[in-house]
Amino acid sequence: MTKMMKAAILREVRTKLAIEDLPIPEPGPGEILVMVTACGVCHSDLHAVDGDWTPGPTLPLIPGHEVTGHVAALGTGVTGFEIGDAVGVPWMWSACGHCESCLAGMETICKFGEATGYSKAGGYAEYMLARADFVGRLPKSTDLIGLAPILCAGVTTYRGIKRTQARPGQWLAVIGIGGLGHIAVQYAKAMGLRVAAVDIDPKKLALAQKLGAEIAIDAREGNPVSAVRKALGGGAHGAVVAAVATKAFEQSIGMLRPGGTVVFLGLPGGKADELRASIAAISGRELSIRGSSVGTRLDLDEAVAFALRGAVAAETATAPLGEANQVLDRMRQGEIVGRVVLKIG
Ligand code: NAD
Ligand code: ZN
Ligand code: ZN
Repeated sequence: MTKMMKAAILREVRTKLAIEDLPIPEPGPGEILVMVTACGVCHSDLHAVDGDWTPGPTLPLIPGHEVTGHVAALGTGVTGFEIGDAVGVPWMWSACGHCESCLAGMETICKFGEATGYSKAGGYAEYMLARADFVGRLPKSTDLIGLAPILCAGVTTYRGIKRTQARPGQWLAVIGIGGLGHIAVQYAKAMGLRVAAVDIDPKKLALAQKLGAEIAIDAREGNPVSAVRKALGGGAHGAVVAAVATKAFEQSIGMLRPGGTVVFLGLPGGKADELRASIAAISGRELSIRGSSVGTRLDLDEAVAFALRGAVAAETATAPLGEANQVLDRMRQGEIVGRVVLKIG
């Protein structure tokens, strides 16, 4: 008899996830079966469900890419893992390893890569498949619920901050203090940067201050661009944008000091995907605008190491798998402070 598992599945975009009993998948060559302990709810899951991006997700889809759990079965050819090992499954389900990007150490932008919880089934389920070569290795006795958000929010903001090239002692503006942003504040502090937080919600700004942001700017009040420039004596050396509003991206450019770099992390999609910026300001002030997409396997190991030694910790609340739709609704309304993690196993 086929063994069954509970999973939350999206059959059509812009519909609710259905909680169903589905067969537990069998690992193919190079794959492992992961018994899921926890899966964070990232705003990218909401973009997938809402069909915000082109191309859309592969349907039907089990979302979820902030996964922690244990190895439950090994496919053929898998070495270096044993049943029961703790692992984390990130967004980058796989990369080809052979293309120009992969060879250049930029596997994050591999054209042939697959995405967990977007083109491949993710962690809103009791079990999922992962490529053994692409999972993060975690210690056996660790808080797998607290660690789940590091698998996306953590690694993404860690790499994003590095890509600003801001140095210890310099100012980093973190724009958008949601699941990603509140973790970005902590990586920045741990990396020796000074943090200015920008959001539209006082509760999120209060969290940023609790986590070490020295400056908190409410973007709904007055002109947030001049407020940041004034508070930081000319602007930020680096900035990461982890908000979902186009305006936040436009404003971030003006928040930089001359020579500064802003890294775009948020992915509003749809109509919100285009921005207006001053060419003269970018050229005359020698600003840099960069993108950053999740992280490489090395970024993930490094990001996890910060969390394991307690330098970074997600603020989490848990919910059962059966409440995934309600959690996504709360995220749509901007009501979540920190990260909600689905407690599954
Ligand atoms: P979230 O919903 O937890 O947080 C979004 C935050 O943005 C909220 O705190 C909200 O108050 C704030 N915000 C909204 N409008 C704002 C404005 N005008 N100015 C400042 N702040 C504003 O979302 P999240 O899970 O942190 O994800 C954020 C974005 O990052 C999403 O678009 C997601 O898809 C994207 N993302 C990208 C990558 C990547 O690799 N580039 C990885 C993960 C997530
Ligand atoms: Zn994510
Ligand atoms: Zn590749």
